[in-house]
Amino acid sequence: MESIDAYLARRRSNGTLRALAPLETRGAGRVVRGGKPLIDFSSNDYLGLARHPRLIEAARQALVEHGVGAGASRLLTGDYMLHHELEEAVAVFKHKERALVFNTGYQANVGVIAALVGRGDAIFSDALSHASQIDGAVLSRGAKFPFRHNDMQHLEELLKTERPKFGRALILTESVFSMDGDKAPLPVLAELKERHDCLLMVDEAHATGIFGPHGGGLVEECGLSARVDLIMGTFSKALGGFGAYIAASHTLVDYLVNAARAFIYSTALPPAIIAADLASLAVCWDEPWRRKRLLEISATFRHQAGAAGWVADGETQIVPLMVGQSQTALAQAAWLQERGFCVLPIRPPSVPEGTARFRFSLCAEHDEADVEAVTQALRELRRMGEGPEPTSPEKRG
Ligand SMILES: *Cc1c(COP(=O)(O)O)cnc(C)c1O
Repeated sequence: MESIDAYLARRRSNGTLRALAPLETRGAGRVVRGGKPLIDFSSNDYLGLARHPRLIEAARQALVEHGVGAGASRLLTGDYMLHHELEEAVAVFKHKERALVFNTGYQANVGVIAALVGRGDAIFSDALSHASQIDGAVLSRGAKFPFRHNDMQHLEELLKTERPKFGRALILTESVFSMDGDKAPLPVLAELKERHDCLLMVDEAHATGIFGPHGGGLVEECGLSARVDLIMGTFSKALGGFGAYIAASHTLVDYLVNAARAFIYSTALPPAIIAADLASLAVCWDEPWRRKRLLEISATFRHQAGAAGWVADGETQIVPLMVGQSQTALAQAAWLQERGFCVLPIRPPSVPEGTARFRFSLCAEHDEADVEAVTQALRELRRMGEGPEPTSPEKRG
């Protein structure tokens, strides 16, 4: 293996070295970093629920009543009534028989995939699947067949030639892709999974709270809840809380409680977090204006960024603006930060080589003036072409 020094030197020289960049606080579409408030286009708190008074109050009450830590894993004595109340609410929210809470979305994907798939089984996954799905696939020891992003013809070819050679088969996708903001063709995936006798698992990390009549996600919006075997989602993004879940059948949940090591061998989420997550589902139900507002302001941003000379396609709150080279993306993000905007430069290996980009994420708390201000800056960047001069990657995360 490459030496650690060589690895760091290589990442430094090609503009892909990452470094932590702590912030002081965040809220209301702003982030404070280095004493300076920036308009925040980097957060996944899409609906602005992380500071919602109902979430804070629910967490505060549970904190006072139960203390901080849960004390043990769920299967030992860390299993509170609150966890079950939350799982019942998630099952209703996702239109499935049951739900199981995991500590993070990462753990949910790794735990579920590794539990469902073993040697002699197969995984067919979208090429842009989240790292946690990829890691779950590696851990599972199943055969891996990535299909080109959202390419249903490619998936069908793979299923025809490879599926018959394996025992169980799992199809993996995200419903709204985390870095590209586009949507998966869920109705076709449901067709294919039925025709080729597979399980279908959909990661709704970026769709939950936003799409569907009740914010249940893109699966809900497409009316496919009954046909998607495993719906994964998180509380950590639009819902403003923390933790994740799988919604599935009674049988699958019973199986996961016994077989998902990421569930079994980890301390339960603290009661205060569970209480906040419960409150987030209630707010999601009671305040549908938040998701309407989010999609409106996102459309406004795409329209204005387009008028400023960028290609800003799509129909979600995640808007990638392509830059190309990592060094350019870094330099331009630093330039935007100096002008008061927090925008994430996304670089390989998170995205394919040569597709470094800004990942704009909008939130329900942005107003037209915020969007207007950043599109002014984006227009100026277009005028400068490749500029400004690249800054050294050490200076910027
Ligand atoms: C964020 C994310 C996860 C991981 O969720 P965490 O709760 O942050 O661990 C999983 N899948 C996708 C697509 C994500 O964007």
